[in-house]
Amino acid sequence: MLRVHSYESMGTHDGPGLRLVVFVQGCRFNCLYCANPDTISTMGGKETSIEEIVNMAKSQKAFFGTKGGVTVSGGEPTLQAAELAKLFKALKEEGINTCLDTNGNNMNDEVRELLEYTDTVLLDIKHMDPAQHKYITGRSNENTFKFANYLKEHNIKTWLRYVLVPGLSDQEESLQSLGEYFKDYENIERLEILPYHTLGKHKYEVMNRKYMLEDVPSNTEEQLEKAFNILNPYFKYVQVN
Ligand code: SF4
Repeated sequence: MLRVHSYESMGTHDGPGLRLVVFVQGCRFNCLYCANPDTISTMGGKETSIEEIVNMAKSQKAFFGTKGGVTVSGGEPTLQAAELAKLFKALKEEGINTCLDTNGNNMNDEVRELLEYTDTVLLDIKHMDPAQHKYITGRSNENTFKFANYLKEHNIKTWLRYVLVPGLSDQEESLQSLGEYFKDYENIERLEILPYHTLGKHKYEVMNRKYMLEDVPSNTEEQLEKAFNILNPYFKYVQVN
């Protein structure tokens, strides 16, 4: 059984083509800008059978086309890697494309098995600088770099994702360091720059939690363009998502 928070059908922002996005429960990061703070607790969500999700995916298969499929996001999916490996294996048997959206903080035998059935990994990089990463997420970025290295060694197709938070993760040197670090990773197909937004802010009020980035504005077009221009030379393809 998987602990599922929610679903999105016909998603266009989490991997190639049209996708069924399954948001699962539980995460060990606590990002200041998390848009789904209600997915962080491992206790919430609904216990759901693998069969139920596979049937849901099969019923939407006609819409997936040649590129689309199922993405598992969160929360942090790798906390439920053993069950997810069963899900992805079943989806692959049905000819359905699989994507895993992860912060890369967990690596173990179950995650390695899950990756065997994963077509594309969407790897979220929160910050290159260890101190800034800890400030944003509450955790070190050491495991994420090891995870990225594993993906490189096993030539697993990867899209990097980077949330551009004004004043927090958009410094020129941070972006250059992101490009320099990953420029020779042949398995990285693209980098997605995710503009900072406050769409999840109301959830903090409902949860009676303080939203720490209250005063941070959305990105301006100039900031997004500047980030694109800095990062574009380093990757095969860069997209502002
Ligand atoms: S890793 Fe993702 S789900 Fe976890 S706290 Fe950060 S933004 Fe939220």
